[in-house]
Amino acid sequence: MKSVTHWINGALVDGASGRTAEIFNPATGEVSGHVALASAAEVDAAVAAAVAAFPAWRDASLVKRTRVLFKFRELMEAHRDELAALISSEHGKVHSDALGEVARGIEVVEFACGIPHLLKGGFSEGVSTRVDTYSIRQPLGVVAGITPFNFPAMVPMWMFPIAIACGNAFVLKPSERDPSASLLMARLWKEAGLPDGVFSVVQGDKVAVDRLLEHPDVRGVSFVGSTPIARYVYETGTARGKRVQALGGAKNHMLVLPDADLDLVADAAVSAGFGSAGERCMAISVVLAVDPIGDELVQKIVERVDGLVVGPGDDPASQMGPLVTGAHRDKVASYLDLGVEEGAKLVVDGREKAVRGGGAGGFWLGPTVLDHVPVGSRTHTEEIFGPVLSIVRVSSYEEGLKVINDGEYGNGTAIFTNDGGAARRFQNEVEVGMIGVNVPIPVPMAFYSFGGWKASLFGDTHVHGTEGVHFYTRGKVVTSRWLDPSHGGLNLGFPTNK
Ligand code: NAD
Repeated sequence: MKSVTHWINGALVDGASGRTAEIFNPATGEVSGHVALASAAEVDAAVAAAVAAFPAWRDASLVKRTRVLFKFRELMEAHRDELAALISSEHGKVHSDALGEVARGIEVVEFACGIPHLLKGGFSEGVSTRVDTYSIRQPLGVVAGITPFNFPAMVPMWMFPIAIACGNAFVLKPSERDPSASLLMARLWKEAGLPDGVFSVVQGDKVAVDRLLEHPDVRGVSFVGSTPIARYVYETGTARGKRVQALGGAKNHMLVLPDADLDLVADAAVSAGFGSAGERCMAISVVLAVDPIGDELVQKIVERVDGLVVGPGDDPASQMGPLVTGAHRDKVASYLDLGVEEGAKLVVDGREKAVRGGGAGGFWLGPTVLDHVPVGSRTHTEEIFGPVLSIVRVSSYEEGLKVINDGEYGNGTAIFTNDGGAARRFQNEVEVGMIGVNVPIPVPMAFYSFGGWKASLFGDTHVHGTEGVHFYTRGKVVTSRWLDPSHGGLNLGFPTNK
């Protein structure tokens, strides 16, 4: 049984609250360990360490900060397999998929290695006679990241490489369901030479989150998780004067026009719908099939789904692993009956899928396909966050677009077509933050910014890329004049150019 603790001021710190949560091996259903759940006092200890570490880190030269980042990147590369195995053992996703999330996280570290360039300000010589103006950006101080279970390495890495590169001290509150990745990354930061206290981890639940939201020394909060909690974090944090970016849930539609290559579409829909057992905020959960291709497309999807191998994440033959917990599996599975009650046709029932290896008690649910899902039904509109692909039939591009734009969420979407004009029209008209043209999971690269619209994001700043740099810094504008005798004389008027 492992015991997962906090990481405060550069060292492991045992939990002192007396509260813990179970960690499961999703492939067997067995409890593999416990994670400490922080009290407010333990959060205060992490924030106090961050407050103490901040001034020296802020003042460390850009070259020194960048060297730590380069070293961290090198160590992450060297430990990617170990990290992926850890993720897979607690989350359930297959090893190759866990390696993928580590790789995408490392890309943010690589982006942050360019921080000297990213923090360059502007300079205007001679805005008035012998007066110069320049702009600088400075770190906020102590910032916190609160992250979901589905990407225990990548989502924290959307945040902390940039926050730390900008000169902030960062406190991470990972998901209590797969908390171990955070401690490996903390150890690697230390090995990379990051001063103690600049990166801390407090394990925990709502108690820790609430304390971070109310702590006066926490200046900024980045959150990724479900929409109700994202809304709560945004409203609570901003009411206390903090800068908050809160990314929420999703329900991503793939619009398939009749001219698309249906074999490629079926490959993309199955990969994007069932990768990571559908537990991705950019998963495709609804395929909008424009008449008359619906029947042919469903047949092609079903052929591919039937061949998928479901099994433990550490078996290289597995293409899809279990769900994260038993409770989540049961919730996802409840949509199968609900879908049928609402009028959909269950064409592939994931409950009947044979599992290759893995314990009988594992949190299994095979890939499921529901066809003719009625627009506006709960199965269509609610975020299921599991291996359930809904097919919705529409008669035209316009009808498909309306279905997407009427939705509550606006995280990701994709159009599949060979018509460039239709694709261009779609990217212009669709009310979604991240759009794929013949790309089913259009997660932007680290040097662009990630974020949705509507109920998928609260706040106006997306994560990573230049928006990340902006979020973790504050601007100053300096107007400077080095006095000489020509500047003498009183003038009580408002300063204007001379
Ligand atoms: P979650 O909202 O349950 O948890 C996210 C974080 O909030 C965790 O750290 C958790 O401990 C904390 N939390 C949970 N309940 C809380 C409460 N009542 N008060 C305060 N804090 C609380 O989300 P999850 O189940 O871990 O992750 C899945 C969700 O995350 C899905 O909705 C998915 O779409 C979303 N997600 C979104 C993105 C995105 O970029 N938009 C990315 C990944 C995941």
